[in-house]
Parts: sequence; C-alpha cells; structure tokens
Amino acid sequence: MSKIQMNTPLVEMDGDEMTRILWEMIKKELLLPFVDLKTEYYDLGLTYRNETNDQVTVDSANATLKYGVAVKCATITPNAARMTEYNLKEMWKSPNGTIRAMLDGTVFRTPIVVKGIEPCVKNWKKPITLARHAYGDVYKNTEIKVDGPGRAELVFTSADGKETRELIHDFTGSGILQGVHNTDKSIESFARACFGYALDTKQDLWFATKDTISKKYDHNFKDIFQDIYEKEYKARFDEMGITYFYTLIDDAVARVMKAEGGFIWACKNYDGDVMSDMVSSAFGSLAMMTSVLVSPSGVYEYEAAHGTVQRHYYKHLKGEETSTNSVATIFAWTGALRKRGELDENKELMAFADKLEKATLSTIESGKMTKDLALITSLKDVTVLSSEGFIKAIRETFEAM
Ligand code: NAP
Ligand code: MG
Repeated sequence: MSKIQMNTPLVEMDGDEMTRILWEMIKKELLLPFVDLKTEYYDLGLTYRNETNDQVTVDSANATLKYGVAVKCATITPNAARMTEYNLKEMWKSPNGTIRAMLDGTVFRTPIVVKGIEPCVKNWKKPITLARHAYGDVYKNTEIKVDGPGRAELVFTSADGKETRELIHDFTGSGILQGVHNTDKSIESFARACFGYALDTKQDLWFATKDTISKKYDHNFKDIFQDIYEKEYKARFDEMGITYFYTLIDDAVARVMKAEGGFIWACKNYDGDVMSDMVSSAFGSLAMMTSVLVSPSGVYEYEAAHGTVQRHYYKHLKGEETSTNSVATIFAWTGALRKRGELDENKELMAFADKLEKATLSTIESGKMTKDLALITSLKDVTVLSSEGFIKAIRETFEAM
C-alpha cells in the first residue's frame, strides 16, 4: 500500500516526560506506516529549551505562523523543583504562554465523546466546546490590602495628562482592593477567534458575561462581540444556519446544564478557567479532552489538554508498566493532519485523520482501554491495556477497517 502524501509540512513540537514517550509510539505505530509525514520538527522538551535559552519555543511559534498548522506535545512548565531536576539556567516561561502570546490566540477545548464513557450530566449528548479568553482580568490584576480607614479611587491618566477619577470606596476600617483591566484589541481578537471557530466547526456560539452588574467592563465585552458579529459574521452564520446567542453568565450556566451539547461556549478568562474544569471532568476525563489554539488570522495549534503525566513517567523510568491514555494526543495529531488536509485540499489526508479517530474510538468501544477509562466506563468485559498495548490495539482496529 502506498503512503498518503502531504503537500505542506506541519509544525511538530515535541515535549516532555510520559507524553514524549507516547508521541514516539504514536508516530511509529499509527502515523509513519500510513502517511509520508512531512513535519518541521522543534524539540520543546525542557532540556533543549534550556540549551537554546528557550529560543526553540519562539522559533516553533514563528514556524506555526508561517505554515498555519502545528501539533504540540505536552511540556513541563518549570517550577522550583524542575530547576534542580533539569539543572536549568532560568525558570523558563510556560511554552504555551509564549506561543499563545505570539499567536494572539484563543484556546478551544472539546471533550472526546465515546460510548461507554458517559457524561455525569445525563442530557449531554454532544460535546460542549469551551473557548476561554486568555488575556487580562483577574490574571493581570493589581491588589492592595487596606489596613485602616481611607479613600480608594480609580484613576486613569490619559497620554495627554487628563485625569478621570471614580470613587471606589470610603473605607472606615480594613479591607481589600483589586484593579483589573482588558484591552479592546484583545477582546476583538477573542471575538473573531470564536466566531471563526463556530463557522469552522458549524456550531452555535454562546457568550455570557455579567453585564447587568458590570455596566462598563463586562458590557464592553458584550458590545464588542455584538458589533463584530453584525458587521463581519452574521451573514455567514445565517447562511450556515448557526446562531450567536448572548446571555448572562448565571443564565448560561443554568442552560448549559439542561442543554444537549453540540455548541461552543465562549467565556471570559476566569469563567473559562473554572468552567473548563467543570465541563471536562463532567465529560469523564482530562485524558479525553483536546485543545486547539486558534489565532484570529486563522493559524491552528493542536494539543492534548492534559500535562506530561509525570507520575506515570517516573514509573516508566523504573521499568514498570504504564497504562497512560494516548487518546487526546492522537486526536491532537488527527486534528492537525485534518486541518493540513483541509488547507491543502488533500482529501486523502483528511480521510486518514477521520479513520484514525474512528479506529481509536472503536477500540475503546470494543472494551480495550487504558486504566483511567476502565475505572469509569459503563462497559462490561473490559481489557486494561498498557500504554503501548493500547496504541497497538488501535493499529489493529485501523488495519482491519
Ligand atoms: P497531568 O500531567 O495532566 O497529570 C495529572 C494526573 O492526571 C496524572 O497523574 C494522572 O492521574 C491523570 N492523567 C493526566 N493525563 C493522563 C493520561 N493521558 N492518561 C492517564 N492519566 C492521566 O498534570 P500534572 O501532573 O499536574 O503536571 C505534570 C506536568 O505537566 C507539569 O510539569 C506541568 O507543568 C505540565 N503541564 C503541561 C501542560 C501542557 O503542556 N499543555 C498542561 C498541564 C500541565 P494518576 O496519576 O492518578 O494516574
Ligand atoms: Mg484552571
């Protein structure tokens, strides 16, 4: 059988620990035998990031801007313990943070739904994709702890020296203060990424804030979304038969619980942080969640939502057998290959991505899975496989299809 050809390379970002081990296995068993894989390879493993003073992360993001599609393995975000473990020159920043800033992107997270792993919310029939704004608000705040009586004011000094003041509170005793901000530019990028992704995936878009209470701050989010929707997207939404729906955040939460799924839920930064953990755990497992960073200019970076699964890696290093779930990492690859195929009009590559996803899900549905899924599945007669055994089982299913 001849291998599927690729026209343009993908940007491949390798990573750390257990996911780096899975990365190699996925390529060897599920990709290289079938696709003449063209990638521009960047090693984002911590050792090489340290060697290159993190230049490799910047280079990989630039390559993504050039080629338009990337696939990324999970990477370590260094902390004090990692400084010692990897003998680091510096506590390098999170690669995801660096890439997100360079791509000016929004992160979309979607659970992978499979028979036998039922969501806790019984009416959720289709995945709910969460879009989280990744700039500002409480994540870029300034705080003061007030020790005693005094006046707190919000002051803005414009570039030409004009002052605007608002009273925050006249303190009669101790208390706390917080200043937060966002920029129209960032909110506009967020809005365009969300509308674009809704068109791309043919799903309705929901957005919610607390604009009834926050009449300027949250209201600004609502207005920017509405304005961009009407001017740039409404016609295409109508044509495709999808809708944009704005409501209050508390109403959105109530409706999400009663909904059937199959839509994108755009959230402000904090709401997205909290709600993505709720949605992903209610759908079953972090190991069954994909993540894609989409820039407003239409650049895509696919990855798994989970980390490097450090605990399993240490077992692996001791020579013990692991049962690490590779589904989200496989879907990162299929997502990237399908997008590459779409952009290059390479139908064979797109069909390959679809088929590999189908083979992965059928393998689980046939009762062969990793330990994390075996613990939560409603299927009977389950075979728990090792990390490698599971990937080999997917290959068997794929070849039989
Ligand atoms: P993690 O790697 O997501 O793993 C946390 C736990 O979740 C694991 O110990 C495991 O539970 C379970 N788990 C996660 N993925 C799994 C999978 N594919 N199969 C089976 N079980 C899975 O988070 P972490 O241990 O907090 O972080 C480890 C490293 O990852 C950190 O250095 C962090 O900086 C990095 N990280 C990177 C990214 C990214 O690159 N996108 C995201 C998050 C974290 P059990 O141990 O109970 O089996
Ligand atoms: Mg969080």
